[in-house]
Amino acid sequence: MNTQTNIIEQVWKEHIFQGDWIRTDNITKDIKNPATGETISSVQFASIDDVNRSVEIAVEAQKTWKNTTFEVRAKILRKAAQLFEENIQTFIDWNVQECGSTLLKAGWEANACIEQLYMASSMPMSASGEIFPSSIPGKTNVWQRVPLGVVGVISPWNFPLLLSIRSIAPALAMGNSVILKPSEFSNITGGALLAWLFHNAGLAAGNFQVLSGESQIGEALVGHPQVNMISFTGSTGVGKKIAETCAKQLKKCALELGGNNAMIICEDADLDIAVNNAVWGTFLHQGQICMQTGRHLVHRSVADAYIQKLKDKAIALKVGDPSHPETQLGPLINASQHEKVCQIVENAVAQGAILECGGRGENLFFHPAVVTHIQKEDPIFTDEIFGPVAPVLIFDDISEAIEIVNASKYGLAVAIHTQRTAWAFELAKEIKSGMIHINDQTVNNEYHVPFGGMGESGYGGRFGGPANFDEFSQRQWVSILDKGIQYPL
Ligand code: NAD
Repeated sequence: MNTQTNIIEQVWKEHIFQGDWIRTDNITKDIKNPATGETISSVQFASIDDVNRSVEIAVEAQKTWKNTTFEVRAKILRKAAQLFEENIQTFIDWNVQECGSTLLKAGWEANACIEQLYMASSMPMSASGEIFPSSIPGKTNVWQRVPLGVVGVISPWNFPLLLSIRSIAPALAMGNSVILKPSEFSNITGGALLAWLFHNAGLAAGNFQVLSGESQIGEALVGHPQVNMISFTGSTGVGKKIAETCAKQLKKCALELGGNNAMIICEDADLDIAVNNAVWGTFLHQGQICMQTGRHLVHRSVADAYIQKLKDKAIALKVGDPSHPETQLGPLINASQHEKVCQIVENAVAQGAILECGGRGENLFFHPAVVTHIQKEDPIFTDEIFGPVAPVLIFDDISEAIEIVNASKYGLAVAIHTQRTAWAFELAKEIKSGMIHINDQTVNNEYHVPFGGMGESGYGGRFGGPANFDEFSQRQWVSILDKGIQYPL
């Protein structure tokens, strides 16, 4: 930890961030390292009164921010990117200690955040509208982008920085003020560090605030009538509750939800590449990724070879302390998640599945598992496990594979391995999935390409690139007549 982090650590232990660090005597939560169980810090939780106060602050602050020139908005976002870059190791260290991220994953996430911030800094001057002709002589029609107002961002713990920043940065760029509710399992990495970042980037007080806490703080934010949009990334169950509350207020919500993503390995696949990709897609960050490859569908003719290669690679992965550079899998995030993963695998085995390798480890660790001899209806295959588990199902015909893929309630990402790329491109149209990757794995995120899911994996628009304009602003039609006209009534 560098000195700067030690300084701000003292801040978040006793303060919450409402545009400035405000001292409170609210409930304090201890932050534990999931790899060691050691208490590494503590954080102040916000109260419901704090939510109400923050919304008042945000409404006021946004009145100035929306009229701030695009040069200034862009400069603050560029400064945030630069500060992130200069302090990248601090962001990585906290992600490792607080969230069990390996150095590889935390480094990737940190760099993706920098890209997101730079991309968002280009938005303020690109927020163009259009001009339309009119049927009324002398009239001009234009539409222009206006901000939504106050945007509430609610994020999960698995990519706590990226999944917060991908909403915060474009929302600020479009002239909104933002209140972030980070996950209670990533308060510092996904919350306090971002408060520090935007505060030091020169954002005026109140345009960005962080309210840590459990679900009731999220609920209060969602239900507040002066919060104009909710950008939520998390589980499908919570997403449905948020959608219900928003619907009652006709409030805009963008929901990026769970997934159970399939990789289809065809008979003509390059098996070494497919297995290499499957290992990354399944085991990266201990499988705790919405796009994780949670269903392996393998053509019967290559199934034995695929399973053997996958098993060999899974056994060779190094599980342990995520701060060690050679570690490939760290701990799961908490005891309930660990128990859930163990139960799903152990129940499958009790029902006749074969655990080819891996399984329950000590404390919060879980060894990468390959499970075969399963049925397509088994929970290990149908549910989002959110752990390092590769359930493998064999198919005989591609139409059967597509039917199985589409039977899922989710529809986030699918990967297909085949040498017939043009055929696979056509096949994509038959697959219910927001993202399809041919000869790749399912965990893909490119900041300039619209990202999102179908079915119960998403609700609302898309994140990334051109999609961010529509997601974080609204269109306003303005018509101009130089001189008023007479209507027949
Ligand atoms: P979660 O839904 O339990 O929690 C997400 C956030 O919502 C947390 O900040 C939590 O405190 C808050 N929350 C919980 N109940 C709430 C309520 N009633 N009202 C408002 N806020 C509430 O999810 P998690 O366990 O943090 O994250 C894992 C889930 O997120 C997985 O299902 C995963 O697939 C999904 N996810 C989706 C994406 C995506 O882009 N589609 C990305 C990452 C994670």
